[in-house]
Amino acid sequence: MELKFGGSEYNQRTVLGHPSGLFVLFFTEMWERFSYYGMRALLVLFLTASLMDEGGWGWPREDALVLYGWYTGLVYITPIFGGLIADKVLGYRNAVVWGALLMTLGHASMALEGFTNIFFYMGLLLLILGNGLFKPNISSIVGQLYKTNGKEKDAGYTIFYMGINAGAFLGILLCGYIGEKVGWHYGFGLAGIFMFLGMLQFYFGQKLFGEIGLNPKEAEAFKHGIATGDEKIENKEEEVTPEVQKDRLVVIGFFAFFTIFFWWAFEQAGGSMTIFAADYTDRVLVGNEAMTFKIINTIITVVPMLVITWVLIMLFKNIFSAYAKSNIFLGLSFVLIWGIVIWMLYREFLADATEVPASWFSVLNSLFIILFAPIFSKIWQSKFNPSGPVKFAIGLALLGIGFGALAYGAYGIPQGAKTASVSMIWLVFAYLFHTLGELCVSPVGLSYISKLSPTRLVGLMFGVWFMANFVANLLAGVTGSYIDTITQNYSMTTFFLIFTLVPIGAAFIMLILSRMLVKKMHGIT
Ligand code: GLN
Repeated sequence: MELKFGGSEYNQRTVLGHPSGLFVLFFTEMWERFSYYGMRALLVLFLTASLMDEGGWGWPREDALVLYGWYTGLVYITPIFGGLIADKVLGYRNAVVWGALLMTLGHASMALEGFTNIFFYMGLLLLILGNGLFKPNISSIVGQLYKTNGKEKDAGYTIFYMGINAGAFLGILLCGYIGEKVGWHYGFGLAGIFMFLGMLQFYFGQKLFGEIGLNPKEAEAFKHGIATGDEKIENKEEEVTPEVQKDRLVVIGFFAFFTIFFWWAFEQAGGSMTIFAADYTDRVLVGNEAMTFKIINTIITVVPMLVITWVLIMLFKNIFSAYAKSNIFLGLSFVLIWGIVIWMLYREFLADATEVPASWFSVLNSLFIILFAPIFSKIWQSKFNPSGPVKFAIGLALLGIGFGALAYGAYGIPQGAKTASVSMIWLVFAYLFHTLGELCVSPVGLSYISKLSPTRLVGLMFGVWFMANFVANLLAGVTGSYIDTITQNYSMTTFFLIFTLVPIGAAFIMLILSRMLVKKMHGIT
């Protein structure tokens, strides 16, 4: 019998029309991103918190931002090596397990920073190495679940991307909260606990993937082991001529290059957009607004939690009988997270709310992804499915429009002003458009890397894709640091207009190139 998806028979059981394995990857990546973004949200706060009364390191803001820049840059360089190692030796599944283990140790090491500073730096190093093994390879396994390179794969990556952002959302919210309100070690430690549970979930569930993601030696053993089964090793590499492969690699190069423009502007979120939120917007809550804010906050936390819990239950229904251990670790992580969420919401409800925190806006990104990803996934499966390059162009243009909203909102700020009270709505619009743009670029990009790469190079190609982030993050930091100079000499609107015009310009160029690129993809849509 021909199986519809790759992997074992259990993997054929679907949730939302996708194989169960997608959701094992969804939750593994969710907990990894929880840890990544949770720790990241604490990093600068911890380093700049005062030594004496806040238990931080009392670093100047500039130094903390430099370390932050290096960390967020370096995590995107190691995927090149991690991808290559998985392609050649380890196999994708082992690479994910090793990467997750290194990251668990990294978070644990950071949680012990109180003993000696060395633990802190060692932690960062382990995270950088672990991410290199984990990120490109889990992304590559997603694509291997699908036997064809059709629309289904795009939709699968979009669902996977929802997992990424569910993790980011909860991580920023909870690690940030616990780190700041309870203690830094607890925040760092929390990141580690969920990384570990995510790893166990993957480790005990991986047979679900059958032959997918094994290294050549394991694949050979697998083939002999299932002589009686109806599953067979598929040689998924199509017979394509070297010219076609070369053309497709060129397209990957273009996609990776254009995402530099995207992330360069997008990553202003952690820098200049946060400065704008902190110093230039009116976030004071008066009268009933405080209660309204608390209610909104509760809803936007509980609804995503309910959605992912529902997905969890669907997954349990499909595979619990065969993968109980994996599901029990996953279930445990959910019991813990629900406990922490309820505790936090309860405390927040009792607390006085007088101001929306400046950091609150950055979680809007993950929230909007969770809300809109299912809609985009449906659009990509419908007849309104534009080609990859056109999606990229739309994504870049939407990002530019988001910055247009900020440029417009900042219009009234006097030249050189150090503070202002602009309405929060512009930031909300900006994050909305940025997120819609992200959905046209980032999950789509992952899917195309999977479709366009020759099987033997897929890990490496994901490494190339993620490396664009290294360049983008670095440039984002440099450009963002000019916010004061530009506001002084021109205006804040001018500053945001740079990020409006460059992505829109890049969108036009992508549109012009789109026909050529589609041709070079040789039938991949
Ligand atoms: N937010 C996504 C993630 O964390 C995309 C990151 C990126 O490619 N810049 O995976």
